[in-house]
Amino acid sequence: MQSQIIDALTKIVGQEYILTSPEDLYSYSYDATPGFQNLPEAVVRPANTEEVSKILALANTNKIPVYTRGSGTNLSAGTCPMQGGIVMVMTRLDKIIELDSANLVAVCEPGVIVGDLNTAAAKFGLICPPDPGTVKTATLGGTVSENAGGLRGLKYGVTKHYVMGMEVVLASGEVMNCGGKNVKDVSGYDMTKLFTGSEGTLGVITKLILKLVPAPEAKKSMMAVFKNLDDAGNSVSGIIAANIIPATLEIMDNATIKVAEEYSKVGLPLDAEAVLLIEVDGNPIVVEQEAEKVLNVLKANNAFSVQIAKTAAEVDKLWACRRAALPALNKLRTTTYCEDATVPRSMVPKFLRAVQDIAKRNNVQIGTFGHAGDGNMHPTIVCDIRDKVEMARVETAMDEMFKAAVDLGGTLSGEHGIGLGKLQWMEYQHGPVTINAMKAIKRALDPNLILNPGKLVGEC
Ligand SMILES: Cc1cc2nc3c(=O)[nH]c(=O)nc-3n(C[C@H](O)[C@H](O)[C@H](O)COP(=O)(O)OP(=O)(O)OC[C@H]3O[C@@H](n4cnc5c(N)ncnc54)[C@H](O)[C@@H]3O)c2cc1C
Repeated sequence: MQSQIIDALTKIVGQEYILTSPEDLYSYSYDATPGFQNLPEAVVRPANTEEVSKILALANTNKIPVYTRGSGTNLSAGTCPMQGGIVMVMTRLDKIIELDSANLVAVCEPGVIVGDLNTAAAKFGLICPPDPGTVKTATLGGTVSENAGGLRGLKYGVTKHYVMGMEVVLASGEVMNCGGKNVKDVSGYDMTKLFTGSEGTLGVITKLILKLVPAPEAKKSMMAVFKNLDDAGNSVSGIIAANIIPATLEIMDNATIKVAEEYSKVGLPLDAEAVLLIEVDGNPIVVEQEAEKVLNVLKANNAFSVQIAKTAAEVDKLWACRRAALPALNKLRTTTYCEDATVPRSMVPKFLRAVQDIAKRNNVQIGTFGHAGDGNMHPTIVCDIRDKVEMARVETAMDEMFKAAVDLGGTLSGEHGIGLGKLQWMEYQHGPVTINAMKAIKRALDPNLILNPGKLVGEC
């Protein structure tokens, strides 16, 4: 990068907030996604919208790629600076500007950590429900840009259901506002939705208006063990058919049960084909009634055993095995690909069986867990990225797995986004007409293609 560009960036953010040493550049060359890494030429940490605007105007004039970064926990290489350029870290914009309990909204800067917003909202008896596994580290800007989900997606929806408005800096450096505090707002194209889930490819979010909801008064958690995968699948459909929408309805397959038990020792039977973890929440009387109905559905579908947590410690123990799923799989090998292929919920057993067949056929180790209630599965491939022969088999397995999800009426990504990792299957899911429309939007908003180039829609 030319020295006059570094000088101009230094003038914008101040000497303390520009990083150019090899160690610092290395630290921002990768994120939580395995397999993608490249050195940026500079890392900047702006303090406010004005600085973001000046950085983008400078980059746009000089056609320098800009990779916006929150905490770097995404799983689709969304912040990896694959064409060098500038990594722009948003964590200094970390103010909760307003908690408006009359309108049930929070106005926040994008660097606020998801969990910190919930801690602040709890003082008003409110929550902002999207809860990725990284609530304690992920920023709101990254979470909105990935349209992240989490365990509570079935009942409460995902991030896009809570974004009411935002301030965005466009590639040109111009500042745009869209949406607001209005519950009803059909004034023009829904620009707020367009930027939500756009993975830093269309603009940089500098302010967010987020919807809050009252926190549930009561919760009840239970775990059901099944000897047969179809019985677990039928239980999921049966619970929904009984007009119950649990806050959480999670599944783990046999491969995951085995490693989670080894890791957490909570007493899971190793021969079970599936475990369901269910939480209902809301008004205390309704919670009791719903828990009873769920129990009946589980029994009617041959649950081998059902445990209902009676104390806080028991609740913790039940969820410990679900929390153990990813770390337990992580521990098996050096490289973990936690994918998020998603299918309509009635297709979950078929998809799980397809993944098991794909694993066997390609001699690849895959454990699957996920959000059975909304069909969002996490087939997790554990392998060694340094072993080229094994990686060729992993690539074939991934190809078959994503195509299987799409063929079942599903999608490549329920919550982790596309970034670079799933780019090659985008046309298989969407077809050329939709892909061309997406590329036209990208070119209209970012004509010099400086924002996260090559990601989500690929080269334009
Ligand atoms: C162990 C683990 C568990 C996870 N569990 C879940 C889960 O349950 N559900 C789920 O959905 N995800 C999950 N994730 C993925 C990830 O944590 C979420 O996507 C998270 O919300 C990303 O936030 P971040 O601040 O780390 O964003 P980053 O990784 O920094 O950025 C994500 C994307 O957003 C863009 N971006 C960041 N800030 C801005 C901004 N201000 N304006 C414009 N673009 C921006 C970046 O360019 C990038 O494309 C998990 C990840 C890990 C490692």
